Amino acid sequence: MRMRLRSKAWLAALACALAVPAWATADQADPVHDGAPAAGPLLVLHGGAGVERASLPPAEEAAAREALATALRAGHAVLREGGSALDAVTAAIAVLEDAPQFNAGRGAVFTHEGRNELDAAIMDGASGRAGAIAGVRRVRNPIRLARTVMEDSPHVMLVGEGAETFAGERGIELVDPSWFRTEKRWQQLQDALARERGQASAGPAPAHPYFGTVGAVALDSSGQLAAGTSTGGMTNKRWGRVGDAPLVGAGTWADARCAVSGTGWGEFYIRAAAAHEICARVRLAGQPLATAAEAVINREIPAAGGNGGAIVLGADGSIALPFNTGGMYRGWIGADGVPHVAVFDEPLPLP
Ligand code: ASP
Repeated sequence: MRMRLRSKAWLAALACALAVPAWATADQADPVHDGAPAAGPLLVLHGGAGVERASLPPAEEAAAREALATALRAGHAVLREGGSALDAVTAAIAVLEDAPQFNAGRGAVFTHEGRNELDAAIMDGASGRAGAIAGVRRVRNPIRLARTVMEDSPHVMLVGEGAETFAGERGIELVDPSWFRTEKRWQQLQDALARERGQASAGPAPAHPYFGTVGAVALDSSGQLAAGTSTGGMTNKRWGRVGDAPLVGAGTWADARCAVSGTGWGEFYIRAAAAHEICARVRLAGQPLATAAEAVINREIPAAGGNGGAIVLGADGSIALPFNTGGMYRGWIGADGVPHVAVFDEPLPLP
């Protein structure tokens, strides 16, 4: 009898679970950050979560918005000519790597030892191929090297000196490490070091230990997706720390239906396999893209103690831009070639 009651209760629970999928109980994502499916090629970018209104001078905000718009146009030019999602992602990220406003390429944050160590990854949703690099110090555009690892090596991920040797052999542009240096990032390291030493002269701790990573997801006219991410990591990182950005499945992921680039406190994105987790929810659980993105970025990661954001693009043209910090540099461009950019919680109408 006891047995029968138990199994009845179990059957009732199972019936409930089948009737109401777990994700259906989650709140829907903020409509400001989600969009209905759109037609045509699309490119979505981020320039990092963690940006705070109080610490962003208007001139810097304007320069960052302009750089995002330039990157969106560069990627759109590729898509308009019938180029691949991979080419659009590469072109857009390379623009942001050269822009000193962002923590990727030029303008990257400094390690504890006062160096710039760069990480990047790219993934092709159609074929599942991926390329990544970590801890490089002389590669001007890490995203180009990640792409070359994917297309011109038998490996997925190269690190440090070996990655630079490979870059040299493949004709990837190498620069003097001073190319990456900006005074602002240097000062951020000095502040972090002074705080570590407990010096009263240290400036206030930033609200978030990361900011300014860049990423892109694109859907091309053949309906194929790609994702890429590039970063200097986190200020004052040491011991060869590598974050989520170059780890396939953590900060970067693309499959046939879903592409993700993340930004935030990388250790938490790694533990959650965040980018893959979003797309797995879409692919295996049939969740709407926005629901999956919301669940991972705004629930799972904060519940574990982390924070940040992500850009997510579906093969049906749906977009989700969840974040849980004061702002996230973000933007998109569609068939009409008009860049749309937002930084804080201002509305960003989606296609
Ligand atoms: N996710 C990056 C990292 O942990 C930082 C960022 O997004 O700004 O390296």
